[in-house]
Amino acid sequence: MASVIVTGITGQDGSYLAERLLGDGWDVHAIVREEPHRFEQEVVAGVSVHRGDLLDSESLRATIDEVEPDLIVNLAGISSVAQSWSQPELTARVTGFAVSSLLAAAWDLQERLGRPVRFVQASSSEMFGAATELPQTERTAIAPISPYGAAKAYAHHLVGVYRGRGLFAASAILYNHESPRRPETFVTRKITQEVARIKKGTSTELLLGNLDARRDWGWAPDYVDALVRIARADVADDFIVATGVDHSVRDFVAAAFAAVGISEWEHLVALDPRFARPVDAPVMLGDSSKLRSTLGWSPTRSFEQVVAAMVTHDLELLG
Ligand code: GDP
Repeated sequence: MASVIVTGITGQDGSYLAERLLGDGWDVHAIVREEPHRFEQEVVAGVSVHRGDLLDSESLRATIDEVEPDLIVNLAGISSVAQSWSQPELTARVTGFAVSSLLAAAWDLQERLGRPVRFVQASSSEMFGAATELPQTERTAIAPISPYGAAKAYAHHLVGVYRGRGLFAASAILYNHESPRRPETFVTRKITQEVARIKKGTSTELLLGNLDARRDWGWAPDYVDALVRIARADVADDFIVATGVDHSVRDFVAAAFAAVGISEWEHLVALDPRFARPVDAPVMLGDSSKLRSTLGWSPTRSFEQVVAAMVTHDLELLG
């Protein structure tokens, strides 16, 4: 049975990826740092858990040497742009520097075993910063404008460096992807939770930093499917993972209220500078043609379906 190590398994993408890989018959291992009560998502049953810390390269190497995986998928890191502004050093270490530890350990394992060890990195659209090129492609200049984007850019470049050295090192350049498992630090889940509370009468107002930012929002399980296709490809490469359709935060708010039958919502939403970013890309929009044509990927859910699934889930949680 092929074995895989997934970092970041307790996050949105890690939980979906673990379910998918177990279903596909992989022997799934995870490197996990936190105490169990701090998990965003429970570790999926059937996953072998190894204690380790991205800040401790020896712990990463020890697990990689012990498991001898065929594949490593790195989803771990500070995943929120907002958090990266308050913790830029931690972001650099965890989202950036730790990738050098993982790649070096993967390379050394490949040398020791004399067989390929594959590596897939979750890169991010944030690396493109305020790109004026729309939509962005794999050839768009990398010019980050947040500590998170800069850390992801470093990791992305290093993946290319190791690919040049002879490791199957690939990256998925992920645009925003959402689901009921998204933490509320992200604007989508924040909106769907608050709209559900307003619908139930336990809240009267949704406070947001900005309504005009435009993002290319997709369905997280589709992005996990892209990760699997990229891991299985004949050749390691970089692929944009995006729907190719952008919407504003205002559109998301309107769709969320529409999903609960509220058409007049303007008086329920207010701007609050506490939630505005120091610098923010006005539009992120990705061109995933390469992924679609090379690996046969396509998104399965529309923007409206993603929003409705999240709102429905949040209504159910409120009972
Ligand atoms: P990101 O694109 O990875 O930073 O994902 P987010 O979901 O955190 O943010 C998406 C967009 O929504 C960004 O342009 C944010 O500036 C914008 N936004 C507007 N109001 C808010 C808010 O109250 N919270 C968050 N997290 N983002 C907001």
